[in-house]
Amino acid sequence: MDIQLDLIPLNEWGFPYEGVFVISGPCSAENPRQLMQTAQGLARLRVHMMRAGIWKPRTRPGCFEGVGSKGLAWLKAAGNAVGLPVTVEVAKPAHVEKCLHHGIDALWIGARTTTNPFAVQELADSLRGVDVPVLVKNPISPDLSLWIGALERINQAGVRKLAAIHRGFCSFNEKVYRNKPEWWIPIELRRKVPNLPIFCDPSHICGKVELLEGIIRKAMDLLFDGLMIECHIDPASALSDAEQQVSPEQLGVLMKSLHVTQVSSDDPRYLLKITHLRNTIDELDQQLIDLLAQRMEISGDIGRLKKLRNISILQPDRWQKMLQERISSGKGKGLDEDFILRLYQTIHEESIRCQELAKLEE
Ligand code: PEP
Ligand code: MN
Repeated sequence: MDIQLDLIPLNEWGFPYEGVFVISGPCSAENPRQLMQTAQGLARLRVHMMRAGIWKPRTRPGCFEGVGSKGLAWLKAAGNAVGLPVTVEVAKPAHVEKCLHHGIDALWIGARTTTNPFAVQELADSLRGVDVPVLVKNPISPDLSLWIGALERINQAGVRKLAAIHRGFCSFNEKVYRNKPEWWIPIELRRKVPNLPIFCDPSHICGKVELLEGIIRKAMDLLFDGLMIECHIDPASALSDAEQQVSPEQLGVLMKSLHVTQVSSDDPRYLLKITHLRNTIDELDQQLIDLLAQRMEISGDIGRLKKLRNISILQPDRWQKMLQERISSGKGKGLDEDFILRLYQTIHEESIRCQELAKLEE
């Protein structure tokens, strides 16, 4: 299905910024003093919008579930005091109504809500005819269609100031990050919807402060338009997500090291060198394609041979042995083990498909 979003570019949303658009603020609003001090800290840095969670979607009951609507007035007052627009997470039409009533400048939809098309549609219906920017976090699971579907629902309600936020995905075997980045998903989103602004939320990807810098650097290299970073005046005492929030001082350090990248340069020496390197890559890729085509043809021959003797397609011992050999040979050439593993899983899967097709031939 064709994806067509009717969008207003980020630089026309009415919030001035240069380079990368930075949203920061606490995971949760806790009290008026916390928000005012945060706002003052953020205003001193190059931050363009302040965030705070008012209603918190917590995994288990009994955790801090947010201060509720009274926090909206605290947040708006803090933003007004320093001239920062503010944004809040909404999960229900009642949240939207209360945010609009308090003049909240932008809304975001959390990962748990994006996961549920019924909830997203209710939010979309409540946004009809309203001119407020909406940022849509990715769903919990690595499902690009679900993310795009949520963006489409909100856009079809007439919201044209629309952006996506990449906050990582739940994964059973991820040990480093709180939510696995799965960078190919936002890259694919960019390819499918080139005019959609995409933010990165390194805080919810990382789950801990030490990892933030690397993820922010990567987001800049992947041309993300903005960042949403959690910041608390006293992270250790935060009522939610304490381990991943930075102090305003730490945020200042991160902002200083922010290297906004550009997609190209008109320096002729750069252009000459990059063209040469890209031509070489194109030639190598053509060789790879030729080799893969040959390899899959042989898979077909193997399938036909196996058919004659009623032999199984999967050969566990052979697969185990060749995978070990490829990994060790790849490592010998300086290639990453995990890369070779993923590459050969894909090749092997395709080889099985080619053998299946061959076996089905008359
Ligand atoms: C948040 O931004 O505090 C939050 C709850 O994020 P997510 O929806 O990404 O979990
Ligand atoms: Mn949080």
